[in-house]
Amino acid sequence: MDEKYDVAVIGSGPGGYVAALRAAQLGFKTICIEKGPTFGGTCLNVGCIPSKALLQSSEYYSLFKEDGQMFGIMANDLSFDFAKMQQRKNKIVEELVAGISGLFKSNKVASKHGLAKFISPTRIAIDRDGTIEELEAKNFILATGSEPTQLPFLPFDEKIIVSSTGALALPAPPKKMILIGAGVIGVELASVYNRLGTEVTIIEMLDRICPTMDHAVSNLLWQLLKKQGLNFHLNAKLLEGTADNKGATLKVEIDGAQQSMDADVVLIAVGRRPFTKGLGLQEIGVEMSPRGEVTVDSSFRTNSPNIFAIGDIIDGPMLAHRASIEGIAVAEIIAGQQPRVNYMAIPNVIYTHPEVGAVGLTEKEALERNLKITIGTAQFRANARARCMGYSEGMVKVIAETQSRRIIGFHIVGHQASEMIAGCSLAIDKKTTLDEFASLSHAHPTLSETIHEAVSNAAHAVPK
Ligand SMILES: Cc1cc2nc3c(=O)[nH]c(=O)nc-3n(C[C@H](O)[C@H](O)[C@H](O)COP(=O)(O)OP(=O)(O)OC[C@H]3O[C@@H](n4cnc5c(N)ncnc54)[C@H](O)[C@@H]3O)c2cc1C
Repeated sequence: MDEKYDVAVIGSGPGGYVAALRAAQLGFKTICIEKGPTFGGTCLNVGCIPSKALLQSSEYYSLFKEDGQMFGIMANDLSFDFAKMQQRKNKIVEELVAGISGLFKSNKVASKHGLAKFISPTRIAIDRDGTIEELEAKNFILATGSEPTQLPFLPFDEKIIVSSTGALALPAPPKKMILIGAGVIGVELASVYNRLGTEVTIIEMLDRICPTMDHAVSNLLWQLLKKQGLNFHLNAKLLEGTADNKGATLKVEIDGAQQSMDADVVLIAVGRRPFTKGLGLQEIGVEMSPRGEVTVDSSFRTNSPNIFAIGDIIDGPMLAHRASIEGIAVAEIIAGQQPRVNYMAIPNVIYTHPEVGAVGLTEKEALERNLKITIGTAQFRANARARCMGYSEGMVKVIAETQSRRIIGFHIVGHQASEMIAGCSLAIDKKTTLDEFASLSHAHPTLSETIHEAVSNAAHAVPK
């Protein structure tokens, strides 16, 4: 076989499949190559989607169990069937993954399964279970994503010592789970199992959880998750550990003292790193950073002019929607267009209960840039809709640049923050001022009135 394409995309995650669709829409003869058995990458198969499916099942269970009576619902003898929760999760993943094959067909994107490896800057070999095919392309888009970081002294067996992938596929909620690393992925998965009755202990090296979030947000989320029963040890360090088929024993340092801890399952969620294994990038001279990210310029171009890279394998926040927006942009750049990606307006969400939604700068980032800022806050406990819904925990913090009155950051802890943050992204992208936002009418009663209130408070705090 000697096929020739205008664009070959390697990896079919939210970066790769979206890039392939856009390239085909722009008239390029396009192929997407995926080493796994299904399309969709980390996000659809073992990331965003399965985690949100289990979060939803566990949230409904805990809502009726903890708060049913408050709503006048007597859910006596409430129980759950974890196998059914897993089946539901798997079905959602299967259907969404099948949807990508459909999109490839309808947009005339060719696709192949197999591990892609560069033979030269314009040619790759695709290895499918030992059968090798080659193809040539004018342009390559690398979107090979990331993998969970493993601790050298406690490798994943995906049964007792699990990554997020193993944690999403457990046969039953464990009695005791230790989570190493209180980042976004960790606290989401810890929430799932805590709601289903697992005793979850969290070991975090830093002095706060979700450290990239605004400090007011991470502090409040920490307090609320503690109230839900998660046991946190901050400034704590995992020193060593052993595991057999029954469980694990860890030695940890907490407040300077060493302790031994047992668990049925240990979830290691200390971060993810770019995945470029087997691609042959070094052999063809594509530059990478010391941390393993593929180095690109502002047009996602590597030092090899026809090879581009997007998503988790390049520097930046590892988020599905960021990979997708870069996928669209890179296809348009190859077509000679000048798309714009506004990284300031890319939102960050944590799907705990309550959720966190944030966009723009944190207070710390704004102060590090020597900006003079004005802050406005408002609480959901004063919001009528939140009270009716029984979700009155949380707050909104808005940060604006004092002189220009431009809003530069929104930080929400509250029910449906993931949905409310979309409008905030638009406001950041359009450089909206406090006064412009405050003059907008928000429907009553809605949760988003609290955003309006926080903005109005900031607007009134500084005279025009
Ligand atoms: C548990 C979990 C929950 C998450 N939740 C969220 C969330 O709620 N929201 C969010 O925005 N992000 C979330 N993320 C992060 C998100 O999944 C990633 O940022 C996103 O998937 C990155 O997309 P990508 O296209 O860069 O790479 P990936 O989705 O990782 O896809 C890369 C693909 O490339 C394939 N590949 C690799 N090498 C080769 C090769 N040589 N040849 C062929 N194919 C290859 C891989 O098999 C993979 O399918 C979550 C991640 C995890 C683990």
